[in-house]
Amino acid sequence: MGRVTVSNIDKAAAVLRAGGLVALPTETVYGLGANAEDPTAVSRIFQVKGRPPTHPLIVHIAGAEHLDGWVKEVPAAARLLAEHFWPGPLTLVLRRGARVPLEATGGLQTVAVRVPDHPIALALLKVFGGGITAPSANRFGSVSPTAADDVRAELGDAVDFVLDGGPCEVGVESTIVDVTGDTPAILRPGGVTCENLEAVLGHPLTVPAASHVRVPGQHPSHYAPRARVVLVEPEEVIAEAERASGAGQQVGVFLPAGSPDASVKAHAVVAVPASVAAYARGLYGFLRELDQKGCDLIVASLPAEEGLGLAIANRLRRAAGPRSTV
Ligand code: AMP
Ligand code: MG
Repeated sequence: MGRVTVSNIDKAAAVLRAGGLVALPTETVYGLGANAEDPTAVSRIFQVKGRPPTHPLIVHIAGAEHLDGWVKEVPAAARLLAEHFWPGPLTLVLRRGARVPLEATGGLQTVAVRVPDHPIALALLKVFGGGITAPSANRFGSVSPTAADDVRAELGDAVDFVLDGGPCEVGVESTIVDVTGDTPAILRPGGVTCENLEAVLGHPLTVPAASHVRVPGQHPSHYAPRARVVLVEPEEVIAEAERASGAGQQVGVFLPAGSPDASVKAHAVVAVPASVAAYARGLYGFLRELDQKGCDLIVASLPAEEGLGLAIANRLRRAAGPRSTV
């Protein structure tokens, strides 16, 4: 430890105040942060990521007590969810407050807000004193970074300062819940499970296949490694991997936990952890690892879509989604 010192936090805050970009660790993934109230700095995030300017960002704040100004109102359901899950991997979509420039919301009158559960992110937010708007610190559409080295490899000098907080604990992005309507709606599954949200709200929630709100994570291909991703049933993973290997492809395999046979004829094999929390924590690292090993195809299966498995399955489906040719 000891990678992040008080002086590093001060330096990061100074970079933000000067309109620069800081990569910061959170419990979900590393973020590419800017002063949320500086439209020029916010626009730089879009340039660096290659992200379409209409795709909104998440504003990170130090605690629910700081919501004033960032949002117009806090409905009862939002207050309840914030009390239970903040700091934590839950993002609430609320009506936009005056402190949020339209650059950060992609022109929307709503804003996504979250309090990250990471000591370094929270320390930076406190020292900086404002809001930090941050999407994941990767190029648009590619795999999210879960370690500081991933950020450096992906963005290099395009980011002014990288705070190294070690590997991310949760490993997949936050759950996004829209609380602007009559009933809360999940826009993206993530680090807080649907079951936990339902237990607090006292009623069932649906996870829509597609959303009426613009959610970048819902593009056909997102969270995608360089290698093509193919999803098959768990019991077909080995056969499919060996078939593609036989056809001359460099195949990476996500071997499902509990597979009877661990010997696969393939270029590279990742043994999927039996614990779904460990799987979520490792997911993006596994995808990066198979890319680094030169795989051109990754064969995987979906975990059971419950608990954190819902978020993992969502990311794998996006990773396997049709690639844009633009
Ligand atoms: P990222 O995963 O890096 O794209 O983080 C930003 C996420 O927050 C995206 O999936 C956004 O769509 C979501 N988001 C931000 N603002 C809003 C909003 N006003 N309405 C719906 N989703 C939003
Ligand atoms: Mg992202």
